[in-house]
Amino acid sequence: MKKIFLLISILLPLAAHAQSEELKFPDGKGVGIDTLDIGDARLKIVLKDDHTWHYIKDLSVVAQDSTFTSHWTEEKINAYSDVALTSLPYRVSIALVDSVSKWTCPYKAKVFSKFGYRHGRRHQGVDLPYPTGTPVAAAFDGKVRVSTYTKGYGNLVIIRHENGLETYYGHLSKRNVEPGDWVHSGDIIGLGGSTGRSTGPHLHFETRYRGFAFDPQWIADYETGELHSPVFVLKRIYLDPSSHYVPQSLDEEDDVFGTDEQIAAEEARIIAERNAMRWHTVRKGETISSIAIKEGVSQAKIKKLNPNLNPNRISIGQKIRVN
Ligand SMILES: [Zn+2]
Repeated sequence: MKKIFLLISILLPLAAHAQSEELKFPDGKGVGIDTLDIGDARLKIVLKDDHTWHYIKDLSVVAQDSTFTSHWTEEKINAYSDVALTSLPYRVSIALVDSVSKWTCPYKAKVFSKFGYRHGRRHQGVDLPYPTGTPVAAAFDGKVRVSTYTKGYGNLVIIRHENGLETYYGHLSKRNVEPGDWVHSGDIIGLGGSTGRSTGPHLHFETRYRGFAFDPQWIADYETGELHSPVFVLKRIYLDPSSHYVPQSLDEEDDVFGTDEQIAAEEARIIAERNAMRWHTVRKGETISSIAIKEGVSQAKIKKLNPNLNPNRISIGQKIRVN
């Protein structure tokens, strides 16, 4: 008896795993009675006992695709750090949906904060406000590449999709998936929250192509939840070179995967750097040259620290950075 129990407890997780390898159709009512191969190795046809059929994707074949074998890392946010903008094609057609791949709006809401510059810093996605605990859905089928906590994003899930896009889901209160998991469009990958650098519960949603972020509103309307078009044509010229992920430890998009100690040390270093900043308030009769002598710094350094400063037009009371 004990032996049987042990066997069942070993087999059950295996069965659960095997099941998750196949994409299931939620609307299929009949029971599958046969599987047919077709010309496309990724697809099989399942015949059902109610005389209907549907396609399933063979994930073991999909997994062989270079999309999932090249530039794959579960350790870093940006897997494409060595990909230059100029190496991308001038335009690329990205299939968002087809007969076997669908789209689910991760959360339907009015975009609160748009993609682009915000307080002089790039905002690499859209912010969709919602109550904490709201289920967040995977946009497309794909493989989870990252599921981690970072200082900036808080709980973050990154999914890579067959069409080459990656989608990012930040500030979650809970993550339901692990790196390497295959998910279907619409699967609940986590719950909404306000973790990381966030001032209130919202989904920070990003869409990226080979590491380059583009406006998620180019592909969908988040209020209606509808895609604009089944195929999305992305032109390289519309991508901003600076949208490529750059590790900046105090940015919302934070690449530091480290222990709490490492993150604390990094933060201490930045704070020390900030504290070391020194300013000189210009007094009557002072020039850049006299300030440089007084503060013990070179004029060149002053110019470097104050890029917008016109040395011939300084005024009394003006603050000039000297360190
Ligand atoms: Zn955001």
